[in-house]
Amino acid sequence: MPVAEALGVTPEYLMSSGSGLLSTIQTHARRNATQDPGDGEALERRLMSERRSPEEWAHFVNLVLDQAFGRERHPVSVVEVAQMFSASKYPSEPIMAVEGGELPGFQGALIRHPSRGWRILYNRNVPSKRRIRFTLAHEFGHYLMHRAFRPEGFQCVAEEIPDPEQPIDRLEREADTFASHFLIPPHDLMEQIPPTEWTDLNMLGCCADRYGVSLLALIRQWLRLTQQRAVLVVSRNGFILWSEASETAKKCGACFREIWKEPVETPAQSLAARRHATNYPKDGMLVPKGAWFQEHDVVEMAVYADQYDFIISLLMLDFDRQATTPDIQGDFDC
Ligand SMILES: [Zn+2]
Repeated sequence: MPVAEALGVTPEYLMSSGSGLLSTIQTHARRNATQDPGDGEALERRLMSERRSPEEWAHFVNLVLDQAFGRERHPVSVVEVAQMFSASKYPSEPIMAVEGGELPGFQGALIRHPSRGWRILYNRNVPSKRRIRFTLAHEFGHYLMHRAFRPEGFQCVAEEIPDPEQPIDRLEREADTFASHFLIPPHDLMEQIPPTEWTDLNMLGCCADRYGVSLLALIRQWLRLTQQRAVLVVSRNGFILWSEASETAKKCGACFREIWKEPVETPAQSLAARRHATNYPKDGMLVPKGAWFQEHDVVEMAVYADQYDFIISLLMLDFDRQATTPDIQGDFDC
């Protein structure tokens, strides 16, 4: 497969780009062509397929980027990838511009460009650059998967915490799934944190830095992949806002409903009940059974996200099998 096609850009773009991009791409393409021809064939089949799930779309884009730039390419430039792919694969309707603006009530939008193609807009008043990156990836997902269904485009109000009063539209959920898998490729995250291994907020924070995503987005993706029994709880002022659990935690009943319509208090013995604390114990704290869960002791790790005024608690159930973790202090962008 030609390099430009594999990357999803025009040959003219490759020839005009500086900084050794072309030679880097050619090196990776040659290596893949000689070492693993099966990957190229699989890639071509995916190129031919038009019915892909959000996970498949993200895997397809990441496979091309891996082939072109190698695995140590994170974090990706969502703007460049979106514009290059669209210009190459859909030259009659490319993403012409990605622009920040005043979008009261909205995080982002995918709209028609006045001349041709599409524009991605994002709310420039969102304080977190990582949150904006996720929004851009979300809109790129709408472009790839949904633009034929909604020719008028999308205006998205995606929030970090789901609103129980607003049922999530299927297309919005798919765009979020695409964004998670595109920005945090499962195969790469599982190399950073093997699914059977214990982890902590420091390690998860390092991975959030690697992919340029919020700690919350990283934990949610990790929960989908890990075999550890683990539960994420987000709380504010002593009340639970929202929760997600790993599959193994769900199987043993260690989970909550994901969202509540009625306020539920955090257990008095928990770290989450210590409002606005900024110096939670680095290694977490053992919270005995009867507090978070009737049947399970947990190790609770917590961090206060001042941008959003909520506390992120990670409840780990398999602490008796925990492995040694690196002693790394990170700054969290939640
Ligand atoms: Zn959306």
